[in-house]
Amino acid sequence: MAQGKSAPTYAIRTLGCQMNVHDSERMAGLLEEAGYERAPGDPDDADVIVVNTCAVRENAATRLYGNLGLLATAKAQHPGMQIAVGGCLAQKDRGEILRRAPWVDVVFGTYNIGSLPALLERARHNQEAQVEIEEALVTFPSALPARRDSVASAWVSISVGCNNTCTFCIVPSLRGPERDRRPGDVLAEVRALVESGAIEVTLLGQNVNTYGVAFGDKLAFPSLLRACGGIEGLERVRFTSPHPAAFTLDVVSAMAETSNVMPSLHMPLQSGSDRILKSMRRSYRAERFLGILDRVRGVIPDAAITTDVIVGFPGETEEDFQDTLRVIERGRFVSAFTFQYSPRPGTPAALLDDQVPREVVQERFERLLELQEAISLEENRALVGRTLHLLVLDDAGRKDAESDRMSGRAPDNRLVHFAVREPRPRPGDIVTVEITYGAPHHLLADSPAETYHVRRTHAGDAWEGSGKSVGRFSPRSGEA
Ligand code: SF4
Repeated sequence: MAQGKSAPTYAIRTLGCQMNVHDSERMAGLLEEAGYERAPGDPDDADVIVVNTCAVRENAATRLYGNLGLLATAKAQHPGMQIAVGGCLAQKDRGEILRRAPWVDVVFGTYNIGSLPALLERARHNQEAQVEIEEALVTFPSALPARRDSVASAWVSISVGCNNTCTFCIVPSLRGPERDRRPGDVLAEVRALVESGAIEVTLLGQNVNTYGVAFGDKLAFPSLLRACGGIEGLERVRFTSPHPAAFTLDVVSAMAETSNVMPSLHMPLQSGSDRILKSMRRSYRAERFLGILDRVRGVIPDAAITTDVIVGFPGETEEDFQDTLRVIERGRFVSAFTFQYSPRPGTPAALLDDQVPREVVQERFERLLELQEAISLEENRALVGRTLHLLVLDDAGRKDAESDRMSGRAPDNRLVHFAVREPRPRPGDIVTVEITYGAPHHLLADSPAETYHVRRTHAGDAWEGSGKSVGRFSPRSGEA
């Protein structure tokens, strides 16, 4: 790296899923270990800008090249700036990125995160763009250093890749077959995170409940949940995402019997039509899916369940869509991530010839949204009057001069904005409040002082010790 008066700065733009958010933390950790500092202020002024791309979301390529076009202008005004592109779209498009955006300095694949600082250095030294795309995982991302955005909450990758072949999904071709980390390594990382201040971890994988398939242990995931239950100081355990086909009773029991596993579950439905599920190559059917929800609620009555739904998959008829609406009604999801299907190049579904017209997809999407919003509102309003323990978020802060609110997550992961009383909590502390209002996407707790209580945690101590300051309130802060 060039010797300068002050350390070079970096900024990372993350697109896409939690897997990318986690990978970005690794990239930040590696860059900081290599002597970079996170850019203060406008990230477009950074010496290195990393774009961590997603190939799953709609118009991913259009958005990437739009982003890169803007960065070309920033680079022209900032001599020495470097631009690196990583993530799934980099893995997929490879050299195409340099052809369309020749001002990019580094293109690195999903398996090459560990090489990022060296690739930047090499590009700078050789004055030539570097492309490094491995076809298989060499170093598990969690073995790399990380710079976590939150002191209290951490992601822990337990597996990468996926052995399924859902026809709409690009993940298997970009992230490869499932690779599982050894349980001992996962637990060692969780313990280290707790020692550094975390009180909440989210176990992360494309398909967490098949964890263990790579080393021949079918019960590895419930065993991992139970083992997390024995880690002192770890207050909240979450996981994302499970696959309904592999969601066994052992997982349900482990959730119910492990006190620090939180009563929340994200269970992707994708479609309520068995015909469409088959065409998606999702091996469960609507009734089995609903049966899992019943079993979970049978033992964890307060479980808040969320889901993903794709509207307008090729061949979806109005009848299929009605099936989806029926499952949504019966599923009583607290929230749903709803997606309009659009063909992703490289996926089998993109080749199907019965694509649903855009305006039909749009119209169904709006109906689905309307139904789900109404359910979300009812589910949230049902919590008014309840007392909840919130983990205070890092980005909580003042909304405006009149209402002093901070934000936190309930055990079931719902977002709550609460009126701050004395004592003022620190991010990472647990605050007890009474819910006073429910909106579709958040709850309010403007509760009286008698019901307000703050428990100081080691995460709050770590936050205080990190010298961070509370940022400005954003109504959507912390929402997924
Ligand atoms: S389970 Fe299906 S949707 Fe999920 S990562 Fe695997 S192939 Fe993609």
